[in-house]
Formats: sequence, structure tokens, C-alpha cells
Amino acid sequence: MSVRFYNCRMLTMKDDKIIEGELWTDKDKISYIGPSVKADRSFDREIDCKGNLLMPGLKDAHTHSAMTFSRSLADEYCLDKWLHKAIFPREAKLTEEAVYWFSKLAYAEYISGGITSCFDMYFFKEASAKAAVETGFRHIFCGAANDFGGFDELEEYYLKLNDFDPLVSFIYGFHAEYTTCEDNLKRMSDLAHKYNAPVFTHISETSAEVEGCKERYGVTPAVLFDKLGIFDFGGGGFHCVWFTDEDREIFKKRGLWSVFNACSNLKLASGITPVYKFISNDMKIAIGTDGAGSNNSLSMFREMYLDTVLSNIETHNAAAVDPFTILKAGTTGGALCMGLNDSDCLSEGKKADIIMIDMNKPSMQPENNIARNIIYSADNSVVKMTMIDGKILYEDGTFTTIDLDEVIRESNRLMKGLV
Ligand SMILES: [Zn+2]
Repeated sequence: MSVRFYNCRMLTMKDDKIIEGELWTDKDKISYIGPSVKADRSFDREIDCKGNLLMPGLKDAHTHSAMTFSRSLADEYCLDKWLHKAIFPREAKLTEEAVYWFSKLAYAEYISGGITSCFDMYFFKEASAKAAVETGFRHIFCGAANDFGGFDELEEYYLKLNDFDPLVSFIYGFHAEYTTCEDNLKRMSDLAHKYNAPVFTHISETSAEVEGCKERYGVTPAVLFDKLGIFDFGGGGFHCVWFTDEDREIFKKRGLWSVFNACSNLKLASGITPVYKFISNDMKIAIGTDGAGSNNSLSMFREMYLDTVLSNIETHNAAAVDPFTILKAGTTGGALCMGLNDSDCLSEGKKADIIMIDMNKPSMQPENNIARNIIYSADNSVVKMTMIDGKILYEDGTFTTIDLDEVIRESNRLMKGLV
């Protein structure tokens, strides 16, 4: 498939400039980006963008896709109770079939919200992988091992899912310190060393988690993992709400990714990540939605909004965080965090993971500053088209690979077995 987008404006994310011209894709890659030219060739499709904006897809750098089953199911608990009372008992009833359909429900929300890849921590991974490939969605798995299970299969998944399909890959990870004993943490470190591989985990999400870790080991989770050699080959952490300056130092020194999940942290009353401290320390940052049970939306727009404005309260400064830095974290940062070095910006030779923003939506006007409109006032409704790996999966409200009626029907049918 080759596509010519013309009459478009483009935010490549290499810098904050908006350029005018056209963009071509051939198969899974961007083959031309620049001024309008007389093309001496034909295309399978030519799309008049009528001044709408092309930009790299948003990257959801921390989620639990199939947790769409838990949306609006238990909204009254903080993290600990939420996990033990509402989530773990229901997850025990999940089946491969349920994860397949609830993953597809998540993909529909991702794609219609301009998200072109997710970094997903969950189980029944084969079911999600099958759903992702059928959909054409780029799904990066993160290991989800803990003391309840997963460590015996971690290496098998690493080898299997990194050789499954070009749309799918697997990065080592474990759930969290408070669900993983020291022996298993050491197993994680051994695997990282065996494959020179990065490792990701939930980290310092609540103050209780940090206090518990200090009681058990005398140090914070970041210091503990660093001591155990878990981060010797990179990786990073999700949430990072209760980081100390020392934790940030470790992440900075090792070039680890801090992935923010503002909505989930607010809803579960976990706390507010001081995003401005990570930015002023010039750290690597990305953004994720977390799962639909704790958010409950899978929209990157509201994540990016909150990550831009929440620091204003603590600092009493309305410009504590630069909105373009957050847009960069939501696109380029997310891609690099999950190992997608070819999906980080619009450039010739890069993957055609592209979205079109509808500039005729009221929330995108007037055009005083287009990037700021995306951060401060846009929502999923501004996404006019989503292309992943050179294929258009969503256009003007219609999915090309997902039968949404079927996904909704199956999700509600399977829900009856979980409540
Ligand atoms: Zn999470």
C-alpha cells in the first residue's frame, strides 16, 4: 500500500515547527516528507488533507489493555483495596477469550484516540498478540511477573513474543516490589544480565509502597532495584510519584525512563508526580494511561493535559511545565521508551505510524499555537485518521479492521462471567 497525503501541515516532532507540504508512505514506511512536488509515480491512494495536521501517533507507554473489563466496576477504592478487593479476584476468572476481546476493545479506544502503540503489562499475552495482529495494532508487551506467577514463563515469552510478528515485541518487566520477593527480584536481574535487556516495573506509585519497601529492605524501590542490578541494561518505571531526589539521580544516571500516569494516580488517590522535577533534571520521560479500571479512560490527551498543568499547583507557577515537552514525551519519548526507535517522529525511512488531527474541530481553533491546542484543549474527537505500519486503521469515525459492534457485544457477554 502506498499513500500520498497532500495539502497537509505536519508536526514532525523533531522540533516544534509546523511545516506545509506532503507526506508519502510506501508499505510500512514514510518514503517522502517535504514540500509539494510533482510526483513522477502513482499511489494506491491520494488523500487531500485540506490543511489538516499530520503528526506521529501518540504512544501509550504504560497500560493494562484488557483491563477494559474493569472500567467503572470499582471506583471507590485506593490502590491496595482496589487491587485486592476488586481486581485480583476478577482477574482470577479471566480467560484467553476474555483477554482477546477486552484487548480489542482497548485497541478501538487507542486507535480512535490517536494512539499507535501501547506498552502493555498483562497476562494471556498470546490472546492479546493475536488480537493485535488481527487489528494491525502495534503492541509492545511488558513482563508482568510477580510472586503469584509469571517468573517461570518470563524467558519463554521474551523469546516467543519477540519472534511473533513485526507488530509485536516483548520487554522484560515485573509487577512491583510489593508483589515480588527478593528471590524473584534476583531472578529478574539474572534475566536482564543474560540478555543485556532493559527491565520495567511499577515503582513508587504510593507512599505506602515506598514505606513498605523501606521496612523490608531499608531503601526505596529504585535504590533496591539498582543495587540488585535490575537496571544495569536500562528500562524504567511506571508512576514514579513518590520518587526521592536520590531515586531521580539513579534514573538520570542510568538513563532510565520515568513513565507518568496522572489520571490513575489522581483517581486511586495515590498522589501527584512532580513532573517539573523530572524535566528540570533533564530525565527521560514518557506518558501512559494505566489500565481502564484505574483511569478509567484510555485517552492520551487528558494524560498530557494533566502532566502539563498539575505541577503548577505545587510550584505556584502557571508555566511550571512546557506543553511541547509533554507532547514530545507523549510521542517521541513513548516510542523510544518501548524500543520503537523507528516510530519516534515523522521522517523519511521511519515507520508510518501517523495520525491526522482535524483542524476544523472547534477545540483546535483559532490557531494561536497548534501544539498547545493539542495539549490544553484537544480530546479524542480531533483524531481524523490513524495509520499504523502504513495501514489506515481508522478514518472519519470508521474502523477498517475492527468490527466495533461485535467487540462491544462480546465484551458485554464476557463481562457476565466476571461480575
Ligand atoms: Zn499499571
